[in-house]
Amino acid sequence: MHGHNINHSEILIDLVAMSNKHGSNPELVLAGGGNTSAKDDKTLYVKASGTSLASITKDGFVAMDRQKLNEVLKKDYPSNDKEREALFLEDVMGAKHNIDDPKRPSVEALLHNLFSQRFVLHLHPALVNGLTCGKDGESMTKRLFSDQAVWVEECRPGYTLAKLCSDKMNDYMDRTGKPVSVMLLQNHGVFFAHDTVEQVDELLNDVVSKLKEEVVREPKMSQTVVDEQSVTSISEILSANGKYVVKHSASTEAFAFSADRESASPMINPFTPDHIVYCKSHPVFIDNIENIPSTIETFYKEYGYKPKIAIVKGMGFFAFGEGEKEAETAKALFEDALKVAVYSESFGGPRHMAHDMVHFIENWEAESYRQAQNK
Ligand SMILES: [Zn+2]
Repeated sequence: MHGHNINHSEILIDLVAMSNKHGSNPELVLAGGGNTSAKDDKTLYVKASGTSLASITKDGFVAMDRQKLNEVLKKDYPSNDKEREALFLEDVMGAKHNIDDPKRPSVEALLHNLFSQRFVLHLHPALVNGLTCGKDGESMTKRLFSDQAVWVEECRPGYTLAKLCSDKMNDYMDRTGKPVSVMLLQNHGVFFAHDTVEQVDELLNDVVSKLKEEVVREPKMSQTVVDEQSVTSISEILSANGKYVVKHSASTEAFAFSADRESASPMINPFTPDHIVYCKSHPVFIDNIENIPSTIETFYKEYGYKPKIAIVKGMGFFAFGEGEKEAETAKALFEDALKVAVYSESFGGPRHMAHDMVHFIENWEAESYRQAQNK
């Protein structure tokens, strides 16, 4: 970075432009996913949790004290997940320049701060997650990007992830003499960092075009012809007398995955935290439309929650929610999961989140907060 005498209103203009541009591209950003930041030596401006990149303005960013954020990683925290994350969150919140600012910084604020470059763009695109959720993700990252990208294996988000990334970034600096500019997070997404938004764009375009060359099969998301009458009657049953809003996905890929239990198996476990937040960890698979209520009841007994996605044999999938937005978001995120599953075929086949990670996310306060913002 070039000194600390920078013009804050100028970097905020660039930050808002970068956020709006990528945030309005559905190939890159869905729902409240992804976040951005800009910084100088003293201050980090990071997206507030629950705001959308597509429409964010300069007021959607939280100003944070970088010195205080740096100190967070030097602290010792308890090993108990709940205690550690609560204290960690308190410290991250305490690093806001204005403590009375009601906005909550993105849970990934600390990761943004670790990069020394001025601008950081963090995304969860389906194409990139085909790689990060692929069995050969790590080896293909090495082959495709050699030293241009750093791979970070799956771990608990929050404090643990920030610590692991910090270690990886320090190693990289020791080894190459450069700061990390592309960081791929297994079963999560990607970070790009550079001193100008144009250079961030170049990094993104380079990764996207290299991955596109590897793709052996593109997901087919165009809508197919459906039996409207069956869709209507299934939707009616799933809505539980109008209690839930139900959205049907009739994409070619949704139909292919719903053919039978075996075909649906890549979709039964989650790929990334986003899929858990908006679709819950597991969808229910319905073999026989005569038995919808009893199948859902059995699922509820097994998992302890109502599913948000029902894959209905031969009929694609149905997303449901308490309101329009919740149902639409669940549908969009499950379609994203379908795309990740298809793209992962080009990177060694699907590799889902580890069970203990799934459990952690299900119980993580930061993600419940994100979920609640989507009502
Ligand atoms: Zn993320």
